[in-house]
Amino acid sequence: MKSENYSVYDGTAVITLNNPPVNAMGHAVRLDLMESLEASWADPHVHSIVIMGAGKLFCGGADVKAFNTPASRAEPSSRTIIKKIEESRKPVIAAIHGYALGLGLEFAMGCHYRIAHQSAKLGLPEVKLGLLPGGGGTQRLPRLTGVEAALRMIIEGNPVGAAEALEMGLVDEVATGELLPAALHFAARVSTRDEHPVVSRRQAQPPIEANWFKNQHEKIAATQKGLPAPLECLACIEAAVTKPFDEGMKFERERFDVLVNGTQSKALRHLFLAERAAAKIAGIPANTPVADVRTVAVIGAGTMGSGIAMSFANAGIAVILLEAKQEALDRGLAIIRKNYERTVSRGRLAPEEAERRIARIEPTLEFERLADVDMVIEAVFEDMDIKKTLFRKLDALCKADAILATNTSRLDVNEIAAVTTRPTSVIGLHFFSPANVMRLIEVVRGKLTAPEVIVASMAIARKIGKLPVLVGVCDGFVGNRMVAQYAREAEFLLEEGTTPQQVDDALKKFGLAMGRFAMSDLAGLDISWSSRKRQAATRPSHLRYSKVADQLCELGRFGQKTGAGFYRYEEGNRTPIPDPIVQKVIEDCAREAGVERREIDDAHIVERCIYALVNEGAKVLEESIVQRSSDIDLIYVNGYGFPAWLGGPMFYADTIGLDKVYERICTFHEQHGVFWTPAPLLKKLAEEGRTFKELSSGASPA
Ligand code: NAD
Repeated sequence: MKSENYSVYDGTAVITLNNPPVNAMGHAVRLDLMESLEASWADPHVHSIVIMGAGKLFCGGADVKAFNTPASRAEPSSRTIIKKIEESRKPVIAAIHGYALGLGLEFAMGCHYRIAHQSAKLGLPEVKLGLLPGGGGTQRLPRLTGVEAALRMIIEGNPVGAAEALEMGLVDEVATGELLPAALHFAARVSTRDEHPVVSRRQAQPPIEANWFKNQHEKIAATQKGLPAPLECLACIEAAVTKPFDEGMKFERERFDVLVNGTQSKALRHLFLAERAAAKIAGIPANTPVADVRTVAVIGAGTMGSGIAMSFANAGIAVILLEAKQEALDRGLAIIRKNYERTVSRGRLAPEEAERRIARIEPTLEFERLADVDMVIEAVFEDMDIKKTLFRKLDALCKADAILATNTSRLDVNEIAAVTTRPTSVIGLHFFSPANVMRLIEVVRGKLTAPEVIVASMAIARKIGKLPVLVGVCDGFVGNRMVAQYAREAEFLLEEGTTPQQVDDALKKFGLAMGRFAMSDLAGLDISWSSRKRQAATRPSHLRYSKVADQLCELGRFGQKTGAGFYRYEEGNRTPIPDPIVQKVIEDCAREAGVERREIDDAHIVERCIYALVNEGAKVLEESIVQRSSDIDLIYVNGYGFPAWLGGPMFYADTIGLDKVYERICTFHEQHGVFWTPAPLLKKLAEEGRTFKELSSGASPA
């Protein structure tokens, strides 16, 4: 046996799954494993077999990239290997450290025994990719743990720790010391037994409660909003109880095949891979040294600053919170405390932990406290002059290698950087509101931002549990630049014949978390009003412009905060109520603009709003503001409530077909003019019969 992943210790063969970074069970790994198993069965000196993972974990699961390809089922398939293991007279023991996830855990359940290190985590996260565990997980787990525990683990998709796994019957032993010696000891002990347990030969116990499956079905159908995977998981678990093992496996395979070929799972897998791709930065080698950001200061304790400070405190990082005035500082700290108290009262955080987190935030009014920090994040008013003054002061005070970041929503990061003597140290970190909750950060690379600054910023963002996506400088960066197109079309649609409610309902039915106008009322209409007033003088007069939002602001309707915006709100209630006053404003604006109102259906609303995003997204991609189309999808799904099961606007356009999308955009261009000028990249891809995704997997957008 030549494989470097095979060795024998005192009669126990040790086979290592070795496929960095997560030992995914790709075809090569399965071939190597099968070969090692054959060798151990053939060797008369081997009495038992231990399977381990190389590096930091046992196995992270199947190779997600290989789904829907012949390689995923090429022999030896995981089913074939498990079948052979079950027939083995020599005991096969899975020794689990780090993680055993998905196919990794399914594989471990196919072994006779499982021993886990005390820090190990075991889980079946397939549901998060719109799938079910298709390697026998839905049939073996209920046989080991009972249906209740199995359903919870499979439907939630979250891993359990070793101690819980032991209690559930998922593992046979927990090792507190080093895993390999414990596994060898365990193997020697069980090798003398005449027979070894085979999970598939056990009977899955039916639930105690009558109608349990029916009740669970209702519960899941009510909470999963039409997503098919959770109900399919339940159906498979029921099959584990009602059908013989082989039939249950057949059923699981059939259901898995339906899901894996469905658009929803493809979209979720696209986003899963998109997150990994977002960490890669073209032109910056993976081995670029990453400076450790240990101390952070946030300037401004307003809406964003306080949330940003909490994000660091939550991750165990000390943060200085600087304000200009004592009252503002007190207000910010009170918001922070209230936020933590709410989490504690919901039972999601221990009171002592909340206190520890609050204690990590050092409030100050003294600018000099920022002299030694590794990173400063500015979150003061959105005003170029204020920001420039601040960055000049930071430049004069902060240590030479400090990162100077701005949380601006749309100001030019290059212009801010230019007032300093070190523009290479300046970067945008565009957090989303509420910053302590939202995962997305647009990391805005300035013209001169140094690679080391980008890498360190991405790393610290990930360290605090965020999802950083690298973008370039342009008005509104990626998310806000695109959303402006969408918002404009939604407002035009009002004048053309719809109501805020009709537009919002159509977008919500499409899958968006919130409609355009309810969202606007939540965020407040006054902020964009003041920027529109600033732009009024330079706005080209020949371009169509909807005055609806301006008129509502003139009436003092700033959204929820004033009890009225595009809708009205009753005291203490956030439910939007259609308002005849708004309808009148819309009709007056339409008349004044000479727009004839007509019947508009939901499909048209969705196309106008979503294709506006796609067309702008294509321009963003073409201008290399992002590295790949999947970065845009991540931004939209994680920052703007775009449904994950549609994969993001660019993936969605790919699934519709870029030729069809392009054709509609051309029609809108004819009907509505310059706003709909088709993105040249979209035209090119449509004509070549290609997709945005194909671009992402290699070719440069240029
Ligand atoms: P805010 O008005 O709630 O808070 C700004 C805070 O900065 C105030 O407390 C003010 O006292 C303080 N401040 C002003 N000048 C200061 C100075 N020189 N030194 C110290 N403190 C000073 O504003 P916000 O909504 O938190 O926005 C802050 C920044 O974040 C803006 O650039 C904004 O565009 C951006 N942003 C906002 C959102 C959002 O949804 N609110 C989202 C992303 C980014």
